[in-house]
Amino acid sequence: KFIVLEGVDGSGITTQTSLLRTWLEENEAIYGRTFFTKEPTDGPAGGQIRLALAKRLKPLDERMMALLFAADRMDHLYCTGENEQNSGIVAKLEKGINVISDRYYLSSFAYQSLQVDLAWLRQINAYCIKPDLTILLQLPISESIERRSRARFHEELYEREDYLTQISRNYLEIAGKLQAEGENILIVNALRDKKDVFAEIQEAVKKLFT
Ligand code: C5P
Ligand code: MG
Repeated sequence: KFIVLEGVDGSGITTQTSLLRTWLEENEAIYGRTFFTKEPTDGPAGGQIRLALAKRLKPLDERMMALLFAADRMDHLYCTGENEQNSGIVAKLEKGINVISDRYYLSSFAYQSLQVDLAWLRQINAYCIKPDLTILLQLPISESIERRSRARFHEELYEREDYLTQISRNYLEIAGKLQAEGENILIVNALRDKKDVFAEIQEAVKKLFT
């Protein structure tokens, strides 16, 4: 199975991914092996993206950013490594290994559609396989900023209140479109105790395996 966690910054994607990791690793006998990964990756395009996000490059055209994210994702999916560990997501899934990714194309659609046409974003991501389940963590932006801690807020490229408000709307609107096209997307209220959020994720994942 291929499972993706999504949401705005501060929605708890990384926290929930790590809870999911612990649980799935403890229950490997039931669910099989699971590989955990994230976007942007540590690959060459991912490296450039991180520099741009940290504002350590000159400002890049948003279409170039979108292409970098898409390029990074192609490598993430399809690269052929010399061993299992560094081969792509698709090769792992073909071996029956579950893959959980912290962010995937829904991030590109929600973040990059701030400045770039969604139809084109979908085109440049056309070779992406669909996840079996996407979990979208929804959180009010005021809370997202609070969690990110006001002191460190603004450090990254898209960390602006007006941007995040729109990105959060984009997430819901685009998730709705994809659901209508048959994608399995679970929208989770992330404004609760992390244990309750995780319980809901656990139920959805269990259901996926039955
Ligand atoms: O998950 P993490 O915060 O490390 O992701 C890095 C940042 O990259 C996100 O906060 C978001 O601002 C940005 N991003 C993006 N488009 C994507 C994926 C991530 O703008 N497709
Ligand atoms: Mg972030």
